[in-house]
Amino acid sequence: MQILVINCGSSSVKYQVIEVSDGKVLVSGTLENVGGNVTYENALGRVLEEASEYKIDAVGHRVVHGGAYFTHATLIDDDVINRIEACARFAPLHNPANVAGIKASRLVLSNVPHVAVFDTAFHSRMPEHAYTYAIDSDISEREGIRRYGFHGTSHAYVAQQAAEFLERPLDELRLISLHLGNGASACAIEFGHSVDTSMGMTPLEGLVMGTRCGDIDAGVVMSLLRTGEYDVDGLDRLLNKEAGLKGVSGISHDLREVEEAAAAGNERARLAIQLFVYRARKYIGAYAAAMGGVDAVILTGGIGENSPSMRQRILQRFDFIGLKLDEQRNSDIRLSTNSHVALACRDISKVKALVIKTNEELMIARQTSGLVRQINGQHLQAKSIPIAVSGRHIHLNEETFRKLFGADATLTHYKDLSQPGQYACVEKLNLIGPRNRIDNVRILGPLRSNNQIEISRTDEFFLGIDAPVRDSGRTEGSAPITLEGPLGSVSLNEGLICARRHIHMHPDDAERFGLQDKDEVEVAITGGPRDLIFGDVLVRVHPQFRLEMHIDTDEANAAEMDQGSDGSLIYTGIEGMSARIRAKG
Ligand code: ADP
Repeated sequence: MQILVINCGSSSVKYQVIEVSDGKVLVSGTLENVGGNVTYENALGRVLEEASEYKIDAVGHRVVHGGAYFTHATLIDDDVINRIEACARFAPLHNPANVAGIKASRLVLSNVPHVAVFDTAFHSRMPEHAYTYAIDSDISEREGIRRYGFHGTSHAYVAQQAAEFLERPLDELRLISLHLGNGASACAIEFGHSVDTSMGMTPLEGLVMGTRCGDIDAGVVMSLLRTGEYDVDGLDRLLNKEAGLKGVSGISHDLREVEEAAAAGNERARLAIQLFVYRARKYIGAYAAAMGGVDAVILTGGIGENSPSMRQRILQRFDFIGLKLDEQRNSDIRLSTNSHVALACRDISKVKALVIKTNEELMIARQTSGLVRQINGQHLQAKSIPIAVSGRHIHLNEETFRKLFGADATLTHYKDLSQPGQYACVEKLNLIGPRNRIDNVRILGPLRSNNQIEISRTDEFFLGIDAPVRDSGRTEGSAPITLEGPLGSVSLNEGLICARRHIHMHPDDAERFGLQDKDEVEVAITGGPRDLIFGDVLVRVHPQFRLEMHIDTDEANAAEMDQGSDGSLIYTGIEGMSARIRAKG
């Protein structure tokens, strides 16, 4: 499939035609000075002339801000355009240009699907504690003030490339990605999902950038406003256009020029570099802590890809988290289209350091083609799925079971569960948290290789424990809990999770739905008192599974539903990323 990727800025149109099957770039170019005498429509007309020998199957548009609404790549229609326009208040320079490009493209290429791919979408599943600013919640909610994050397409792409390079599944890895270009951001990627990122409601927050200050005390803004020398636009310029490497060095936003001046002894240039590096290092430390560990740190973007000295400054002295930089390897790295991933650490380094050439256009093309294939693939009809509500429950391994019930004890069958081979047991345990205890929580059989205790968010707060939302079976680095049984208690270092909602499927069902194991889907609950859509529902396919969606009691309460309700599938994930398709009816 051949995809035209369009990136419309306030004065330029960048374009590429990409053959998705092999990632080959067939045509690429940039048109400057667009928006003045040259309209976006003129510019897109010229792009089409350039690409005239290729059959364009679809157009993928980069859109900077998708607000809280757009969580996936989305097929563009008039409603989508209106919503992108509504997000312009958070990205006043970018979204209007993106929309102008979309409108012009739809006019000149009216017979193919157009898809919007959002810089913010990859971060849309960040947990609430990562995206919330600690201000009055009513104001945040009313005004949409929260952290959205950017560079999502790049972070998602390099994460996929890292997993391929390390030959490990992305959903087993904890990664920290630093995209260091003119704009710069860090991202904590846990098991394939962004769980925190340094840019916030706008691309101003976080790392030091070419011309942006990154993190700053909001008090500075008020103090400068009170001097009377700045109005809002003046401050916007000061912090977005005159700050960062440029502001501190007084020389340039371009790192190469700042590095040259620093080498020649310029103190302000040296300080600019130190600040840039120090901030990047702080985020690596913070995100390693946020994820409870890290498997690889990735550097990308113009600076990450091309400056060995900046890479060394940023990655040195991380031995204490298990990252051992290899100075020689680092300085020898030369990335190219054919060699776009390189290792910058020693072989023995437990935490890998990777330098990866980013490719946002390819990622946009892939997401666009994936969505179009889905649409063509007729996977859109609403399909009914029975839903089961799981109360809190416990799975034990043999060792823990014996400690709690005795060396000769066996599980006592109480009743069969809907999934073949699974049963509820007569045995129950008490959960002891730092704040409260929950008694009589049922054990489910048979015994497993790992302990896994599944509770709801409400239970977490009652017990006084933060448990991560996890897929079943993924208990490494989860929360600690004490279990109390007839023979005493056992304190587990990990095992407590808030189970991620999921659908069990037999391979025959998966085929019927056009889904695969580990896809993510959306399920709509309709016809009840409180209709809602559950996003991020994990699909688990196994010959022993029977079709059923599992949610916890909090989730069931939110939809005011009982056991025996049905949901309908309205959405499928693609190629490890997800694309939003709203089904009709
Ligand atoms: P953008 O965010 O606009 O896409 P880039 O990713 O191209 O920007 O990154 C631009 C930054 O990369 C600039 O600060 C530039 O100085 C830096 N850069 C590019 N090449 C090199 C190099 N060889 N050495 C050091 N810095 C470089």
